[in-house]
Amino acid sequence: MNKLDAQRQKEIQQAEELLFAGPQALGFAKGLFQGRFVSDWVMPYPRIPEAQQGELDETLTELRKFLNEDLDPAEIDRQADIPRSVINGLGRIGVLGMTAPKEYGGRGFSQMANCKVLEEIGRRCASTSVFVNAHHSIGIRALLLFGTHEQNQKWLPKLVTGEQLGAFALTEREAGSDAANVQMQARPTEDGSHFILNGEKRYITNAAIAHELTVMARTPMPGSDKTAVTAFLVTPDMPGFEMLEARMPKTGIKGTATGRFALRDVKVPKENILGPIGKGLKVALTVLDFGRTTFGACCTGAAKTCLELAVAHANTRRQFNKTLGEFELVKKKIARIAADAYAMEAMTTVTAAFIDRGLEDYMLETAMLKVFTTERLWECINDVFQIYGGSAYFTDLPLERMLRDARINQIGEGANEVLTSFIALVGMRGPGMEFKEIYDTMMKPSRDGMSKAWAAGKNRLSATVLVPDVPVQSEQLRAHARQLGRTIRHFNFAVNRALITYREPILDMQLVQERIANAAMDLFASTCVLSRIDGEIQFAGRNGNAASPDHAAADLFLHQSFRRIRGFLAALTDNDDKAVIAAAKSCLTSGSTETAP
Ligand SMILES: Cc1cc2nc3c(=O)[nH]c(=O)nc-3n(C[C@H](O)[C@H](O)[C@H](O)COP(=O)(O)OP(=O)(O)OC[C@H]3O[C@@H](n4cnc5c(N)ncnc54)[C@H](O)[C@@H]3O)c2cc1C
Repeated sequence: MNKLDAQRQKEIQQAEELLFAGPQALGFAKGLFQGRFVSDWVMPYPRIPEAQQGELDETLTELRKFLNEDLDPAEIDRQADIPRSVINGLGRIGVLGMTAPKEYGGRGFSQMANCKVLEEIGRRCASTSVFVNAHHSIGIRALLLFGTHEQNQKWLPKLVTGEQLGAFALTEREAGSDAANVQMQARPTEDGSHFILNGEKRYITNAAIAHELTVMARTPMPGSDKTAVTAFLVTPDMPGFEMLEARMPKTGIKGTATGRFALRDVKVPKENILGPIGKGLKVALTVLDFGRTTFGACCTGAAKTCLELAVAHANTRRQFNKTLGEFELVKKKIARIAADAYAMEAMTTVTAAFIDRGLEDYMLETAMLKVFTTERLWECINDVFQIYGGSAYFTDLPLERMLRDARINQIGEGANEVLTSFIALVGMRGPGMEFKEIYDTMMKPSRDGMSKAWAAGKNRLSATVLVPDVPVQSEQLRAHARQLGRTIRHFNFAVNRALITYREPILDMQLVQERIANAAMDLFASTCVLSRIDGEIQFAGRNGNAASPDHAAADLFLHQSFRRIRGFLAALTDNDDKAVIAAAKSCLTSGSTETAP
């Protein structure tokens, strides 16, 4: 086996261990790749139970009042700091322990309710929403998910009030997108009572203000010469903890403290291990599932702000003796922002509900939510920036700050390219394995193989022949539902064709993967939008509202989304991929950036 094959084998083994722990119920996104519409998870549209809604409404009222009176996003940006008074206020309202169980002092909110809270913060200040995410969505998440009762009792009460703060430390120089390549070492002491940690972490939000950091480090695996990543609780008062740079100067979300630190022979008690030894990557990825969900909520909030700003300006600014809103090219931008904001909220709500309802595996959906909402928000900000013209460029308006702040979203918590490839590959794994079964049997027929291949073949065939049923309740949505069903079949057909055409090399064909992932993301987004419209129509009907709610933007989203999907799938066979690869290769190998005269 050459070095490259060995590396590929290692990656596949790592991914298998992480992602495919055993038989699981078919999730919604994996179902799409099989040509199925797993309706139970997405319909009817999830609603917060009445009993919780009252508590959420009260919290939101209190939060809005506090944010309106005490949060100054422009000042936070200028000072590159979130004042302690803001952190204390968020702690008092319960934001810093929103989903923590009440027995540890938390509010015990569902993920759906928590997303509403983060949307509200995301509407106003990205520094503050990223700070809350780093502390609550990922910082103390490993404790909430994997902490023992003793650990939770010891650590959580002060963390959920904000008296103490948390951080999540995975990234290192050699472990950025390649998160599995953690180099920080954790060696057990001879008596096994402690681990000695050595190494450096960088780009860690809250590192310099945190009292508890969830740190990923590499431990030897007992009984083998292998090492694996384990999650540790580290506190900055441990001897050997050295803050190298407390606040690295940066482009946006300037209020957050993003830091670098070193651990030099830091002695951590074994009681501070979170989750099983050697399962730190699984811990990290599960934690990030939560982070990516609240990312969706924050982006939704910011997109709603874009819409408000765009409408306000388009209705008041006059040029050529008309308001800007009278021009079609401005209308187009406003309509798109409204459509995207509606979809972002729907997708966030449905994904959060997966977590609340205990779906076992929602990694694909959280990855889709993260990529989709961060890309859409970037477009929304670009559009509203354009509507404001020259005025957007000046610092008295919030738009240049919003633009700077939003840029991290496509990079942090998994760069969008990495997640895009992940979505396509994990999604295609199911049908890919079925094709492998068929192919292997054709090459080497056996009785057992034949029956498995027959089952796989039947499965594939039925998925390409049948149009899945999309069960909406509202009569007026039937046409959209049928179109969604047909588009899923079309998608499934395209996935099958790509798998048959490219076979194993598809693992490296990111241009193909991107189209498949983009189509899958739009299918998920359309589903969430359709489910939300249906839910709203039904809700209005039950409450005696004769007039149907205004769904013009949602309707536009469905039209645009279906059109985009058709484009992605058509580009699987009509593209410039060869020319793209050739042009890049020419630059990369010659190192020259000059074009021929
Ligand atoms: C402000 C800020 C806050 C952060 N907070 C935290 C935190 O709290 N905790 C934490 O652990 N980390 C944190 N990070 C780190 C963040 O998660 C990483 O920056 C991110 O995962 C990307 O890693 P990298 O920067 O090393 O980029 P690299 O891994 O070097 O990637 C650079 C680019 O290469 C491309 N790329 C990489 N791999 C692939 C691939 N397989 N296929 C295609 N393209 C690829 C992508 O376009 C990517 O953007 C933070 C970063 C920033 C900037």
